[in-house]
Amino acid sequence: MKKQGLGTISVQGGYRPGNKEPRQVPIVQSTTFKYDKADDIGALFDLEADGYFYTRLQNPTNDAVAAKICALEGGSAAMLTSSGQAANFFAVFNIAQAGDHIVCSTSIYGGTYNLFAVTLKRMGIDVTFVDPNASEEELSHAFQDNTKAMFGETIANPALSVLDIEKFARVAHAHGVPLIVDNTFPTPINCRPIEWGADIVTHSTTKYMDGHGCAVGGAIIDSGNFDWEAHAEKFPGLTTPDESYHGVTYTKQFGQEGAYITKATAQLMRDLGSIPSPQNAFYLNLGLESLHVRMPRHCENGQKVAEFLKAHPKVSSVTYCGLPDDPYYELGQKYLPNGSCGVVSFELAGGKEAAIRFMEHLKIAAIETHVADARSCVLNPASTTHRQMNEEELKKAGIAPGLVRLSCGLEDTEDLIDDIAQALEAC
Ligand code: PLP
Repeated sequence: MKKQGLGTISVQGGYRPGNKEPRQVPIVQSTTFKYDKADDIGALFDLEADGYFYTRLQNPTNDAVAAKICALEGGSAAMLTSSGQAANFFAVFNIAQAGDHIVCSTSIYGGTYNLFAVTLKRMGIDVTFVDPNASEEELSHAFQDNTKAMFGETIANPALSVLDIEKFARVAHAHGVPLIVDNTFPTPINCRPIEWGADIVTHSTTKYMDGHGCAVGGAIIDSGNFDWEAHAEKFPGLTTPDESYHGVTYTKQFGQEGAYITKATAQLMRDLGSIPSPQNAFYLNLGLESLHVRMPRHCENGQKVAEFLKAHPKVSSVTYCGLPDDPYYELGQKYLPNGSCGVVSFELAGGKEAAIRFMEHLKIAAIETHVADARSCVLNPASTTHRQMNEEELKKAGIAPGLVRLSCGLEDTEDLIDDIAQALEAC
């Protein structure tokens, strides 16, 4: 069959009902599955047969939704996790352990920064943060013999810098490690990092993929392109027998295309158990069904609001890669030609005090720890999501104390702009 478009995959991907079967993805709200023969379930435990035995490892609803996201990103295998945090943790921990090291862009979400800089460090995995705009030579200096992965966000939250994915992929591959890209903000509708050389893609599905502020969730997608066997000495977890799973060697039994996700499911999900509920996977799927229709509207509102803010005398700076004088305009045109996302960051001339007054005067956008929702929302990152960072770290991550992050929802553009105008007037 001809390759389907992103719209068709958004609506119908991952689930094809048979005759007389439910049209909508069924919610298999069961922790466990019944078997007549003990040997049948034994074969599942040995990873010798396909099937379900316990929802902490796999569930049919979750798998259908993961398959849809996999197809949207153009990957070879995918899994859902209970949150975006779990997705990024699993993505790294699946190939790095105590004594290892990763290289990561400084321009990332505050929760991921904390996960890597504090929690992974406590677990013995070291991280070197790099300026994403550095040259390939400078980026190369951050690599060590024990480096296992490179990480960045396609559009960083909340700095809104655009990652040069091809550059990062070249550097990662020159050092024999995969590039992991968090593609939460653009979603595969606006950018498919695998097509630019990323090996593993992650998502906080809590954001645009759900899109209705309904279910926290995450996803990991493997491109199937990274040759683990060619770098076997770096990735023994994938290329040598796993004694905790009946001596399975993931690359041998599941090949380059299936090894990474099978290991993350069989080992990490088994031991750490960050599985989403099937009910939440169902909600996520409802969101995915309209992702290709919603993203252009979010982008349209983002662009018009950014242009309005840019021309306003009380606004000292606006960050949105759709503005021609934005430092990331060129990279945006390359990687996000159809639009980036609905999130706009800006600073008010009156600084943090004015920013807080502005947010409190808004009537449509609400103050929330959230972005990428159908309803517009607003936040001051320095005093909320990024408050664990000191001044120096905030500066490196591109976050000014008075920065406002405005996530444009799906409301009428004119209403959004009128609301912003009256709040600016009042502050
Ligand atoms: N990655 C990005 C880019 C995010 O913006 C977020 C949350 O805002 C996360 C990961 C974490 O996702 P979650 O809140 O679903 O755990």
